Amino acid sequence: MSEIDVAIIGAGPTGLFAAYYAGFRGLETVVIDALPEPGGQITAMYPEKLIFDVAGFPAIRGRELVASLVEQAGTFSPTYKLGVQAGALAYDGDVPVLSLGDGEEYRCGAVLITGGMGSFKPRPLPAADTFTGEGIVYFVPHLADLADKDVVIVGGGDSAFDWAMALADIATSVTLVHRRDKFRAHAATVDRVRELPVQILVNSQVTKIIGNGCVEAVEISGPDGVRTQKAGVIVAALGFTADLGPLATWGLTLDKRHILVDSMMATNLPRVFAAGDIVEYPGKVRLIATGFGEAATAVNNAAVVINPDAHLFPGHSSGGSAE
Ligand SMILES: Cc1cc2nc3c(=O)[nH]c(=O)nc-3n(C[C@H](O)[C@H](O)[C@H](O)COP(=O)(O)OP(=O)(O)OC[C@H]3O[C@@H](n4cnc5c(N)ncnc54)[C@H](O)[C@@H]3O)c2cc1C
Repeated sequence: MSEIDVAIIGAGPTGLFAAYYAGFRGLETVVIDALPEPGGQITAMYPEKLIFDVAGFPAIRGRELVASLVEQAGTFSPTYKLGVQAGALAYDGDVPVLSLGDGEEYRCGAVLITGGMGSFKPRPLPAADTFTGEGIVYFVPHLADLADKDVVIVGGGDSAFDWAMALADIATSVTLVHRRDKFRAHAATVDRVRELPVQILVNSQVTKIIGNGCVEAVEISGPDGVRTQKAGVIVAALGFTADLGPLATWGLTLDKRHILVDSMMATNLPRVFAAGDIVEYPGKVRLIATGFGEAATAVNNAAVVINPDAHLFPGHSSGGSAE
């Protein structure tokens, strides 16, 4: 069993900023996320979009904000456990013991839940059921990985069109396949993609994936019959499902799918704090900016619980340098 000062559940913007903040308070952290990449909703749903309401940045692209948060947290070298779900919570006396999906257990000074909408999973591509090879992705965290590839994007929402727009210039070819002829994506984005070298196939579905060990082609069934299309990578942008998962069994006081917290961001469970989209209190606003503030409040209050001699106020981060 490992010992840790703070186990942070969720590597979205709130959890990443909490990891920085805990490090700043001299606390060791492990950051756990069920998704394979940090960034929470930003990475999963809108890495290419500009965000205009993060303090200090008139406009910042989603992926750049996540990269900056990871860099900032990296100042204090948190341990990341990505692609791993946080599971059961037990207590040894008043010490929380957190079990992870990979079997690892942590005795924690405090647990900070920054789980957003809960564990979210990409909706699977039905045609991928029988294909065991590589080349099917549900996120594109690094656009460069898809450079010079024939890319088939499946879906008709914002993510599908964002990927199409971002990849049009760098991929060898981009084909967007959607089973309807109407799109859920913003009309302006759809119009922009129509002007790019992107083949859009409507009323069509990927019905078979062809390849030996990795994707080489797909069969697409559409109004004109079945066609075979060269493909190096399939981006399945079919949306996500989310639920509280194991957190729902912890005995937390919940309001629908949110965790009730007080003004210290403390939950009803000893040494368990929560922040970001997952919390509820009167007047709660679900934004990146509020998650950042709540992360700081939660970590400073956790610091006092972990070490009763510690001060609630952390001092100023600018305090160490006269430059
Ligand atoms: C399309 C879109 C556009 C948006 N635009 C803006 C905007 O312009 N400005 C703005 O302020 N906000 C915007 N938002 C909202 C913003 O993204 C959220 O407020 C923010 O992501 C919340 O951050 P979070 O860290 O609290 O949660 P999330 O980003 O949801 O991250 C939570 C993480 O916790 C993980 N997790 C949950 N449970 C577990 C578990 N048991 N084990 C392991 N991991 C777990 C999840 O996998 C997830 O990665 C937008 C949202 C969407 C969908």
